Amino acid sequence: MQNLVVISLFLFTGFVSSFSAAYDFSEEQKRNVKLLMNASLHDDTGYRIVESLTTEVGPRLAGSEAEKRARDWAVRQFESLKFENVRVDTFSVPRWERGIETAEVTSPFPQKLSVTALGGSVATPADGVEGELHIFPNLGALKSMKNNAMAGKIVFVDESMARTQDGSGYAVAVAKRGQAAFEAHRVGAVAALIRSVGTSSHRFPHTGQMKSITDKNPGASVPAAALSAPDADQLARISHMSEHVRIKLILTPEVLPASTSGNVIAEIPGSKKDEEIVLIGAHLDSWDLGTGAVDDGAGVGIVMAAAHLINTTLQQRPRRTVRVVLFGAEEVGLVGAKSYTDTYQDQLDLHIVAAESDFGAGVIWRLGSANVAEEKHDVFTAVTEMLSPLKIIPGDNTSSGGPDMKYLKEAGVPIADLRQDGRDYFDLHHTADDTFDKVDPVKLRQNIAAYAAFVYLVADMEERFR
Ligand SMILES: [Zn+2]
Repeated sequence: MQNLVVISLFLFTGFVSSFSAAYDFSEEQKRNVKLLMNASLHDDTGYRIVESLTTEVGPRLAGSEAEKRARDWAVRQFESLKFENVRVDTFSVPRWERGIETAEVTSPFPQKLSVTALGGSVATPADGVEGELHIFPNLGALKSMKNNAMAGKIVFVDESMARTQDGSGYAVAVAKRGQAAFEAHRVGAVAALIRSVGTSSHRFPHTGQMKSITDKNPGASVPAAALSAPDADQLARISHMSEHVRIKLILTPEVLPASTSGNVIAEIPGSKKDEEIVLIGAHLDSWDLGTGAVDDGAGVGIVMAAAHLINTTLQQRPRRTVRVVLFGAEEVGLVGAKSYTDTYQDQLDLHIVAAESDFGAGVIWRLGSANVAEEKHDVFTAVTEMLSPLKIIPGDNTSSGGPDMKYLKEAGVPIADLRQDGRDYFDLHHTADDTFDKVDPVKLRQNIAAYAAFVYLVADMEERFR
């Protein structure tokens, strides 16, 4: 695999002169793009950053002492890589912590099940809850039940998720994670189980937040947990054989006093228009089960290394400032993203483009956008065409751009979406298996090459995209 990306670059070395697109990049810009791609495809800075974060900090749940250590780590990394204006913007975040989590079938075939509490779940009593199981094929079926129709039962939403390249299966499947515990309460159930939101067939459950931890009125809910896919299959089989399946569930998560989280920010100041900003981000927090390697250690490594290579490979810095933002408390409800948009409200007009890497470590195959003005589409496409040596194709102007881009996007900031191949992403997402060994250094380099080239171009060209 290692040489494929490198070879493909050389196959396309004639690319810079072959474009006659809607924008005339200067000879220097074309040369610099080539330099950046070559440097990135032979550099391990990004991979070492992911290794360092996942090894020296490990899991880093929002608001935890470990997330604080991650911020300290990030400041040290930025400083040693010679970034400027390194700072931490702190904010307060409610804090939830996992406790004991066990589940078992008590009859007709007693056996343990592999479960994990959903983020924000309330606790069961210390000795657990037990009830008769009722399976729903999807969230809609649970929602169609009358109030109290499931009194005393444990409801189980057994809805699977489609494996897709662009991750579109997630948006559909995640609805049950957000709503099952609240719907279960409405129908009188004592607990809710869901089939994990994920595509893995392995025996580990996928966690994830239910509603945003900052939601002041989430509504009443019951203890809620995700089952691994094979355990969900097992329950389905058992319930086919017996009308009365009983489940016992113990979950003891705690809500702790509000704690501190923060965004870590660093910059490569622009050489001519340093007040104008190209933002690239990733999130620093992770779930607690794995070490947050593909979610989102990889993104941290990609954006830090891309900006670092722009700063160290080229003779002159790009015209505009490259700002790297490592968002805190993403997983529990995009708390850092909201804080950033509030803090930099007065600068949002000066944000030329923003992008987040938060979809694992697969190769980038498409570059889409959002909020790019109609008359600027051709220019954005011309930028995309400069990335064709990396096998990246143009996307449309309706992209998400990553979770932490939500509020910037709502504020009208042009968003770029360097979309990774996510077919395997949800095999690992939010599980104990999200560890450093899953990151492929060659694929990571392709990501860094794409970010470095893209960020350099949009930071150096005079054009804006609004
Ligand atoms: Zn993420």
